[in-house]
Amino acid sequence: MQTLTFKRGVHPPDEKALTMDKPIKVILPKENSELFFPMSQHIGAPCEPCVQKGDYVKVGQKLGEAKGFVSSPIFSSVSGEVVDIRPVLVPLGVKSLAVVVKNDGKMEEYEGIKPRDYTQMSNEEILAAVKEGGVVGMGGAGFPTHVKLAPPPGTNIDYVLVNAAECEPYLTCDYRLMLEQPEKLIKGLQIVLKLHPNAKGVIGIEDNKPEAIKLLSDMVKDIPNIEVASLLKKFPQGSEKHLIYAITQREVPSGALPSAVGCIVDNVDTIISVYNAVCEGKPVMRKIVTVSGGAPANPGNYQIRVGMTYKDLMEQIGGFKVEPAKMVAGGPMMGIAMFTLDVATTKTSSALLCFTPAEAFIPPERNCIRCAKCVEHCPMGLQPFMLNQLSLRGDGEGFVANHGLDCIECGSCSYECPAKRQLAQSIKATKKIEMGKARAKADAEKKAAESKK
Ligand code: SF4
Ligand code: SF4
Repeated sequence: MQTLTFKRGVHPPDEKALTMDKPIKVILPKENSELFFPMSQHIGAPCEPCVQKGDYVKVGQKLGEAKGFVSSPIFSSVSGEVVDIRPVLVPLGVKSLAVVVKNDGKMEEYEGIKPRDYTQMSNEEILAAVKEGGVVGMGGAGFPTHVKLAPPPGTNIDYVLVNAAECEPYLTCDYRLMLEQPEKLIKGLQIVLKLHPNAKGVIGIEDNKPEAIKLLSDMVKDIPNIEVASLLKKFPQGSEKHLIYAITQREVPSGALPSAVGCIVDNVDTIISVYNAVCEGKPVMRKIVTVSGGAPANPGNYQIRVGMTYKDLMEQIGGFKVEPAKMVAGGPMMGIAMFTLDVATTKTSSALLCFTPAEAFIPPERNCIRCAKCVEHCPMGLQPFMLNQLSLRGDGEGFVANHGLDCIECGSCSYECPAKRQLAQSIKATKKIEMGKARAKADAEKKAAESKK
């Protein structure tokens, strides 16, 4: 099998040995513990709570109704009483309105959960099931999947790509899902292919997971429209644009979506969640989280209930053997540093990395030595040293003119920089400001155009 890849990128040590052989272990939230369900766990309009304080809710019962087209409903992952509706801290470090449910430990299932045969369902019914199942990009993006699966009319989709690269160091949750739930993954992909019958399904897996490549290749060998692609272990292979390039050699234009080049990309857990929502009638309520790094007493892969706090999870798996110096939600390249574990897990939680002081040490920033390593490795072909200077100068116009908005925030530039300049951090901050300005300008233009009608 040929090994596919993209241009530039970096090769950090994958550090997966700590957890890759650890089967997924189910962890249930403690009885009487409170679970927090933020109304914003996706890209798009936040949900509105559809329950009230004092209501009794069951596992799989809707707590938040999606109010916009780009939005996704939120469901309870336990049974118990709604004890509050208030803003809570989410991993991004901001607050979101959340429904708080006190777990009664009974795990009473909502009556609406019923299995279905997807072959007997129309495409509209499948899309409605994905939407009502609250499926979003589970790899971290959080984009509502029903929107992604229904591109604008006239779009020809000829590739449905399963992003099984899992290129972030330490993370092994998707790898374990591929080994432990391959039937659901394949069935989920077949459901998406039913919506796009002209497309070929390709499961792209990095070549540091030979067991998954072999298992899935054997399982799909007699399915004519599905194949497995072996990808070179390189970061950020799991970035949507770079996965598309590696498999199809197509380049997604700046600012465009994968559908512009005939592709739909969904990660492993998203495709399995499509299966769960369509065939089992189960909305997104659980998540597989890799706990790793040198500080946890028991690194591994854990199936948690969405809404549990990271604190509850760590208490149940034996806590720490060393006081962590740094905690990260997600991977070390693109994850978010956390200052407390008292934060709810969400649909997009994929990892909790807890590093010892030695692992967390980052040397101080020094002056740029103009070596151009950041340019050589940037997968988007940008000039990170220049974007860093523009960011530090507060030159937003220059930043945009130098394509700063195309940065995918992968951190490859910071990783390679010998002067340890905080390139990605500064670029990310300026990008956020400039995108905010662009959105505000677009809204103002839209309002002005509407007022003229
Ligand atoms: S500039 Fe952006 S896209 Fe390029 S390497 Fe740095 S973080 Fe990644
Ligand atoms: S890698 Fe670092 S030191 Fe080298 S040019 Fe880029 S910013 Fe400067």
